[in-house]
Amino acid sequence: MPELPEVETTRRLLAPSFVGRTIVRVEHDAPHRYRDTHLAHGRTVEHLDRRGKYLIARLSGEPALELVVHLGMTGSFRPTHTPHTRVTFHFDDGTAAYFQDARRFGKVAVVPAGNYRSMPTLQKMGPEPLSDDFDADAFARAAAAAPAVKPWLLSQLPVAGVGNIYADEALWMAGVHPKQTRLEPDEARRLHAALRAVMTAAIESGGSTLRDYAQPSGEAGGFQFHHNAYGKDGQPCPRCGTSIEKSVVGQRGTHHCPTCQVLRQD
Ligand SMILES: [Zn+2]
Repeated sequence: MPELPEVETTRRLLAPSFVGRTIVRVEHDAPHRYRDTHLAHGRTVEHLDRRGKYLIARLSGEPALELVVHLGMTGSFRPTHTPHTRVTFHFDDGTAAYFQDARRFGKVAVVPAGNYRSMPTLQKMGPEPLSDDFDADAFARAAAAAPAVKPWLLSQLPVAGVGNIYADEALWMAGVHPKQTRLEPDEARRLHAALRAVMTAAIESGGSTLRDYAQPSGEAGGFQFHHNAYGKDGQPCPRCGTSIEKSVVGQRGTHHCPTCQVLRQD
């Protein structure tokens, strides 16, 4: 599932195809999934931003509107029409952008600018991990009272954009067990730094390609070659050599090193 680095990579590479162009028509086959897209017709894309795992295109004109895209499990933008193209954005210069989504968990909607009532996860999202708003002290205070840390990260409440891959990688880097509750201040600080480091490195590599994700050019990302824990069950921990274990935490497949990430009992 695309997480912050994949969505940020998509945003950077997609921006030249969207920004400054006027959307003449949005073509799709599922009105309940792709809501109010006709409201974008005749509007020009002024910016292409990202919040967590959401792409947000700011549109020209009044009332102020945004085109919001969530890639879901298998969504990506591709340079050409494919058998899994769900939404096609036609622009005034004759070009088009193609949103493909094999499993159809992705969402596309036009909403009043800044009004995310129809998308509660986006509405309640925590700070961007690479922004100054993601403050180490505030994170440590919240983490001191937190339930099991991995599901807490995945909730998007303490920080935006962290999914299964980057939660496992950041927890491994910080040496914190995925089920740890009530983090000590030093654990929380290590995790805060690890989240930033992992996100930065993954964006630099163009994200991780496991199955469906690709950059808008069609090229794969490269960060899957730098994973230390995610998907590495049975392989030696790069830090200590112990076999990485796979378990289920909060209904998600989870990878950790039993030597580097010890569950501390309160
Ligand atoms: Zn280890």
